[in-house]
Amino acid sequence: MTSSKTYDAIVVGAGHNGLTAAAYLAHAGLSTLVLERREIVGGCCVTEEIAPGCRVSTTSYIASMLRPEVIRDLRLGEFGLRMVPCDPAIQVAFPDGKVVPWWAERERAVAEFRKYSVKDADTFVRVDDQLKRLARYLQPFFLEPPPEIETGSLQGWADLFRVGKRFRSITNGDLAELILFLTGSLGEFLDHNYESEVIKTLFLANNVYGKHGGPYQPGTAIGLLFHLLSGGAEEVQGFYGHVMGGMGSITQALAAAGQKLGVEIRTSAPVARIDTRHGKVRGVVLEDGTEIRSKLVLSNADPKRTFLKMVDSSELPGEFLHAIRGIKMEGPCAKVNMVLSEEPRFTGTPAQYTPLERTFYTIVPSLEFAEKCYDIAKFGEIPEELWVDCVVCSNADDSLVPKGKHVLTCFVQYVPYHLRQGTWDENRELLGDRVVKKIGEHAPNVPNSILTRQVLTPLDLERTYGLTEGNIFHGDLRLEQLFFMRPVPGWSQYRMPIDGLYLCGAGTHPGGGVTGAPGHNAARQVLRDWKMMRRKGAVA
Ligand SMILES: Cc1cc2nc3c(=O)[nH]c(=O)nc-3n(C[C@H](O)[C@H](O)[C@H](O)COP(=O)(O)OP(=O)(O)OC[C@H]3O[C@@H](n4cnc5c(N)ncnc54)[C@H](O)[C@@H]3O)c2cc1C
Repeated sequence: MTSSKTYDAIVVGAGHNGLTAAAYLAHAGLSTLVLERREIVGGCCVTEEIAPGCRVSTTSYIASMLRPEVIRDLRLGEFGLRMVPCDPAIQVAFPDGKVVPWWAERERAVAEFRKYSVKDADTFVRVDDQLKRLARYLQPFFLEPPPEIETGSLQGWADLFRVGKRFRSITNGDLAELILFLTGSLGEFLDHNYESEVIKTLFLANNVYGKHGGPYQPGTAIGLLFHLLSGGAEEVQGFYGHVMGGMGSITQALAAAGQKLGVEIRTSAPVARIDTRHGKVRGVVLEDGTEIRSKLVLSNADPKRTFLKMVDSSELPGEFLHAIRGIKMEGPCAKVNMVLSEEPRFTGTPAQYTPLERTFYTIVPSLEFAEKCYDIAKFGEIPEELWVDCVVCSNADDSLVPKGKHVLTCFVQYVPYHLRQGTWDENRELLGDRVVKKIGEHAPNVPNSILTRQVLTPLDLERTYGLTEGNIFHGDLRLEQLFFMRPVPGWSQYRMPIDGLYLCGAGTHPGGGVTGAPGHNAARQVLRDWKMMRRKGAVA
């Protein structure tokens, strides 16, 4: 069956980036249809009910880098988006029962660090200033396409000029530091600059998140800069926020904003194929056989899913396909969500803490532990001892559960996508048991208060949320897969090798996380091309 309406643009996938792109396109007057395979919008930025009346951010759980421009342009506040800063921004629960906060306010954080090392507290101030300064060089690139420096073309020269202009006032010292952060390891940086294991571990808890690599792997220091890009409605450097109503409030607000601008959204509408002919996009074909025509298609699915599953390989250059197959995915993390009959009581939490201060705990003892944990997972084993990030969401927002109950969401790394022995279906509960045991060492009342437990292995992230190999960023965030190398070299400006086909998800620059930046940037690129097509009379 062929649908009678032809759209200007179809967006495949209603993740937060797909919804962002769609809203910008509709705002510019393009008739836009979003097709989502799941029954709900949001991709991996959702709030779901895991037991009657108990809702939780099943996948992503902290908003840190959602672009202020996207929040403002699409007026997400008017559509119900409200975030409360995490304070402490980070809080580590150590094996000896100590709970150490990293307060959001710098002076308060420094005072806390002083308890562990006066020297480190002073170093922190110096390094924080330096990192914030360096992060400002990178910040402007976040919301624009990476340069494609092709000196044979006018555009290439313009891109070269754009990059040069950004760095024209950089000093030798800053350049050296920037290269160090881009290529060095987090572990070596911390060992070189700090003496306290406690303070180093606080930095660790804030970095290499969801990354395929231990903290001593080259390229892991970049997270120190990445996390200092500004985020949240107030544009705060290093912002961390709890979203009221869970992360799904972000995508609900994006969907509502888009619909007000004219975006049509269809859920339970899996796209089987992106229809292309002679190097040009024609629309999509749904799994039920429905054909829908459009002048443009933007895929919010990851690059492997898009090009290895939805596009006819004979329409793509061999080199491009080869590069897509080579993208490093293999998600190294999992999620465990629980409904509890009482609030988790983490040992060492001061009695005077407010509920918000009792919300976010990271269980990771040291850099060495994290490196060893990764080493075990890298060879296909599920580590006995895991790194677990715990958020007691109901302490930040009690509307998520009926009175008296609590929801705890736990991000777990490192685990392998490919198991050496057995399958994830056979090992799901083993993973859940290990996570609960680890939490029980720090919050002893948790194991006996679990009413519901949902374990999402890397395989479940793939099956349920459509993330190839369970990679939460649509491709690992490693230097050779960033900037003009993302998704693959030569194709970083959202246009793909088929006329009218674009990528708009986390697999493109600047990468994963709930930022809205790939969706925003892709839409801007589409609109530039649309204008050009109009000028040439190719579209009405
Ligand atoms: C467990 C987990 C924890 C995370 N924690 C955080 C966090 O705390 N903070 C943070 O900032 N980031 C976090 N992230 C990362 C972040 O959520 C993602 O990088 C980001 O949401 C990706 O957004 P996206 O819109 O690009 O893609 P997605 O959210 O993956 O959306 C893609 C959409 O496309 C749909 N789709 C795919 N194929 C088809 C098809 N054939 N037809 C129709 N639809 C299709 C999918 O169903 C999905 O809805 C986490 C991710 C996970 C999985």
